[in-house]
Amino acid sequence: MKRGKVPPLFDRIAIIGFGLIGSSLARAVRKEKLARRIVACDASAAARAVIKKLRLADRVVSGAAEAVAGADLVVLAVPQSANAAVAKAIARHLAPGAIVTDVGSVKEAALRDLTAHLGPAAILVPGHPIAGTENSGPASGFAELFAGRWCVLTPPPGTPASAVAKVRELWRRCGMRVETMDAAHHDRVLAITSHVPHLIAYTIVDTVAELEAHLKAEVIKFAASGFRDFTRVAASDPVMWRDIFLANKEAVLEMMARLYEDIALLQKAIRNGDGKTLHRVFTRSRRIRRSIVQAKQD
Ligand code: NAP
Repeated sequence: MKRGKVPPLFDRIAIIGFGLIGSSLARAVRKEKLARRIVACDASAAARAVIKKLRLADRVVSGAAEAVAGADLVVLAVPQSANAAVAKAIARHLAPGAIVTDVGSVKEAALRDLTAHLGPAAILVPGHPIAGTENSGPASGFAELFAGRWCVLTPPPGTPASAVAKVRELWRRCGMRVETMDAAHHDRVLAITSHVPHLIAYTIVDTVAELEAHLKAEVIKFAASGFRDFTRVAASDPVMWRDIFLANKEAVLEMMARLYEDIALLQKAIRNGDGKTLHRVFTRSRRIRRSIVQAKQD
């Protein structure tokens, strides 16, 4: 080895589910030389054809069990509802010492589904790279997707520190800032920062879909006044978001209850002509936007 050359973190990475996130990770792994080989697995024949055409992996297979053979890192990047089936399929085929991680947006459910099938001896480092676009599939991925964004790891108690350190380093070298926390805490934070905002966007856009034809035409025409931003969020993958709301039920319902209370407060203020309350709430919200911009998360 030449002096100063950093060796790859992993010998063989198997990425199961090679859509936006899986293929973006593969691109970043290639770019940063983080593994000697990448094995891609996807259930979709159309996705596998794209992976081959774009040469995104060293090997492309359809079965998860075949994909994980000899891999020292296995990444589940399938829709959250497929985690359990994939874990079941790979359980008896993992190489000794293999680290298993995932990228699912709800971490308590991921941990439950993975441990149920992989058993207590598996080395699990569940993760959530908080980065995405409204697009899906292997053609939509890009290596820079993760740059400057946060990744949360939620290893269960007892996970070897060396395994956590390797997964942390993987995402760090993909450009992410990495934090470790408890799975339940992650799910509450994401419920209010990501899940409920998506629910609001889906609802507003669906309300427009229900409007009478003449009103709908005007909404499309004047979309730039605010509605357009909601339509971008509401164009996110319906399968992924269905899975998120089913998997993070308790935390989302808790945050929705708080939101209803706050909407009722504003409703009352508008009815009573209470400009003082409206101004106070809007001023506080503006400060939160400014702190997000300052944290370079806008
Ligand atoms: P995606 O683009 O739809 O890709 C998922 C791929 O997995 C699809 O090609 C799908 O094939 C395939 N697949 C489904 N079941 C499978 C199975 N049992 N075995 C192998 N492949 C299977 O999805 P994504 O946006 O990358 O999301 C993947 C995961 O990342 C989800 O858990 C999501 O919560 C998480 N995540 C997403 C984002 C985001 O913004 N997109 C951000 C952070 C985390 P079919 O199309 O045939 O089903």
